[in-house]
Amino acid sequence: MVEANTPRDFGDEVVRLPKVEIYVTDVCNNRCSYCTTGWDNTENKRSSLKHVPRETIRAHLEEHFAKGARRVVFQGGEPTVRRDLGELLADARALGYEATTVFTNARAAASPIGARWLASMGVTWFQVSIQGGTEEAHDESVVAGRAFGQTIEGTRRLLALGQRVKVNGVLTRHLLSTLREFAALMIELRPEEVGLDVVRPSPAFAPDRASYEDLLPPLSRYSEALRDALLAMNAAGVPARVISCPPCLVPGAEHLVSDEQSSTVTQIPTGEFMPKLAQRRSLQVKPERCSTCAYDQGCPGVFGLYAEHHGVGELRPIAARRELPRAPEPALDHTTPLTRALRALFVKATEGPTGVRAVEPRPDGTHELLCFGPKGELRVLVAPRGAGPAYASTASFSLSYRADPEGPPPDLRLIDAVAQALRKVEVRLAPLLGPRAEPPIPRPT
Ligand code: SF4
Repeated sequence: MVEANTPRDFGDEVVRLPKVEIYVTDVCNNRCSYCTTGWDNTENKRSSLKHVPRETIRAHLEEHFAKGARRVVFQGGEPTVRRDLGELLADARALGYEATTVFTNARAAASPIGARWLASMGVTWFQVSIQGGTEEAHDESVVAGRAFGQTIEGTRRLLALGQRVKVNGVLTRHLLSTLREFAALMIELRPEEVGLDVVRPSPAFAPDRASYEDLLPPLSRYSEALRDALLAMNAAGVPARVISCPPCLVPGAEHLVSDEQSSTVTQIPTGEFMPKLAQRRSLQVKPERCSTCAYDQGCPGVFGLYAEHHGVGELRPIAARRELPRAPEPALDHTTPLTRALRALFVKATEGPTGVRAVEPRPDGTHELLCFGPKGELRVLVAPRGAGPAYASTASFSLSYRADPEGPPPDLRLIDAVAQALRKVEVRLAPLLGPRAEPPIPRPT
């Protein structure tokens, strides 16, 4: 939380909408050891765990909308275990909320049906919880077997269906020890942003529950790994920040520390709503010497519980602030109605032996389809008819392909299949043709 140095293009800074976080269920298919709900699920019978009634959630939505909230995050437990999640989101939109987030482990999206069900809800963002860079680390952190595979598959499917995905990780020893793999995974998945949160004190660390000391070793041991992971993700175009962490614990990446916006209101496990940042600050501490640090103003220090276990010796004042790198020019998102129509037509949540993995718009208004089949992959370019040399044409489209000249011969049946599918829906797609169908949308980077 370094106000003057917090990049404006990250998380809440992008949206700038007052936000409320609402619990929608106790039930979860993970058992994260740092999570109060995870422990409730471990210790209580499933029958004693409840979904919050829809009327209660609607009342919370109304109350906080009246107080100014315009963005809602549904959290839990795992919101996607509710069959009426779509109705809750519809309630929020009907009240006037401008943006919705579902905080999820995305395991429900691992199946084609589940992914399509979630993608049909009109969610603004799915915030996917990924807690390790490897299967072993993630599954141990969330205390659930085969969770990693489902979470990653679910994330891929949501992205393939054109959904907006952010990733959240909690800096337990599981994630800290696999940061390199985690960064590589994020660079491959390319979510809209990545937030790495420090472990917060909670009833999950009550006696007979998780050990804070075991779960969170001294962060200074991982300073370099954390810095390298943050820098690698950002250099690859994946905005990544560490949240609510003293900058002195990530030397070299001090400018990548961020924090919650002060207007956010969150519901805590007791059911009360509290200002999130103020509640965090009430639990954080710093040593006297911080008054000489260039980051003193705005730096949160560490949680008192962390200081009890690890002391504050690793917090070392920094002489000068690190310059925030110049913000890059906003990239353009070339997505158009035709892009969405092509994705809906070709990218299926289920994968057979032949299909289209992704549809990407290009700056010139054409589209590139990543097709796959038993003989490998082929990039098929779809352009308005007559826009250039073509391998195949339909009434409205020209199709060509890009193949590796050094690789095996392209499987031309893939491009024939695309042409055939286009012919069937030509009448519907033709009006969407052309770069002027909808101007490119400026997209925050
Ligand atoms: S020395 Fe203190 S003020 Fe400076 S970054 Fe560390 S914790 Fe924050």
